[in-house]
Amino acid sequence: MAEADVPVDTREVRLQVAASRQEESGHGIARIPRDAMATLGVTEGDIIEIAGKRTTTARVLLPYSEDEGLNVIRLDGLERGNAEVGSGEHVLVRRAESRPATRVVFAPAQKDMRLQGPAQALKRNFFGRPLTAGDLVATRGQKRVQDMPPEIARMFNAPAFALTQIRLSVVSTTPKGIVHIDENTEVELKAEFEEPRDNRAEVNYDDVGGMEDTIQQLREMVELPLRYPELFTRLGVDPPKGVLLHGPPGTGKTRLARAVANESDANFFTINGPEIMGSAYGESEKRLREVFEEAEKSSPAIVFIDELDSIAPKRNNTPGEAEKRLVAQLLTLMDGLQSRSNLVVIAATNRPDALDEALRRPGRFDREIIVGVPDQTGREEIIVIHTRGMPLGENVDLRELARMTHGFVGADLAALAREAAIEAVRRIMPQLDLDAQTIPPEVLDNLCVTRTDFMDALKR
Ligand code: ADP
Repeated sequence: MAEADVPVDTREVRLQVAASRQEESGHGIARIPRDAMATLGVTEGDIIEIAGKRTTTARVLLPYSEDEGLNVIRLDGLERGNAEVGSGEHVLVRRAESRPATRVVFAPAQKDMRLQGPAQALKRNFFGRPLTAGDLVATRGQKRVQDMPPEIARMFNAPAFALTQIRLSVVSTTPKGIVHIDENTEVELKAEFEEPRDNRAEVNYDDVGGMEDTIQQLREMVELPLRYPELFTRLGVDPPKGVLLHGPPGTGKTRLARAVANESDANFFTINGPEIMGSAYGESEKRLREVFEEAEKSSPAIVFIDELDSIAPKRNNTPGEAEKRLVAQLLTLMDGLQSRSNLVVIAATNRPDALDEALRRPGRFDREIIVGVPDQTGREEIIVIHTRGMPLGENVDLRELARMTHGFVGADLAALAREAAIEAVRRIMPQLDLDAQTIPPEVLDNLCVTRTDFMDALKR
């Protein structure tokens, strides 16, 4: 059919966004209801266009069983960013076609990531996947095919790209619009980081494991007021100014705060308690004031104070004048925040009882969320996150690892995954020609992290 004869497909459905499962993050898929698929005339694997405040694309899959009958679309964190929507908001979905691209340019979307030349591997990694310029996308590792939902396995049959998931921006495509990479596409990877449209490539809700309820609580306290300040003004209630996260070190408090900032498109400012304490006389207060001023100017913003206890210990317990002054300064700053300034202060501590009580009065840090040591399910989610994009050997059993790591917090599990990957690299070292600039693709393709690598890492 000539292009002019193609009737414009005006069918569309409106669906409410929810987060997809941890393990499906980065796959470029969207799960939508069966009746929506029927209305749009699409079947599994077809391409859709998803319009929030921005328009993006994905392949459709059937809904999770628990979603049957619900008017929900499941999107991962990058896709939510690509459509510029948050969970709970609505998008319009239409059927779409992709055209073969003659050229696609990618760039790393994560700051400390320097990549070189593996455009061929990239091409295989994104082969066939619908893309639009401006999207943030993630590479996939070679997961064991039998672990994937069969519909995903069928669509993605691409080899490993690297040992971790890599997030990239699609800088440009030729032609424009929705395209896919095929044999004839020229793929270019820019070496340099490009400031992405959106920080969700850095950390989003997909990257914090075992915290579903915590995320929910924090979203209600922070994301909603930042996103919709008018809701609170309308109701005549003051949105929360301060939220206290408490729990042991390494449980993901910082990461969670960052994820909230990124998903709510707020600017993020960090104050590290011990660091700021170290400054010269009067400097600490000044620094604190500056951060607050800057944050208010660039609101919506989140100020994150890590290790709050070190700058705000109980005043009657501390001999230090410096601490007393700093607590007083912080209280003044919190009280001075305009209720409409659209700024939230999130503080983390592992010693909530050591905090000056005045900080926890109404209008200050009057909301508290506990971030505890993860249970087995939580640990499994966290391991999934840190092995995402890792080519795993046949015998790797993430559930078994979760069972074996009782007492581990997120930071320990991240270290475990990293160690295991290093073990795998050690094994292939003898095959590498260290003078060569790049690793031959066949060596990369055979690189995989085995159960033994994890067990060895556990022993360290
Ligand atoms: P905290 O602020 O509680 O001390 P961080 O957020 O700094 O902990 O966590 C340190 C690192 O540990 C993170 O960058 C991440 O790699 C890992 N990590 C910790 N908790 C989690 C979690 N719940 N999910 C995924 N990764 C986690």
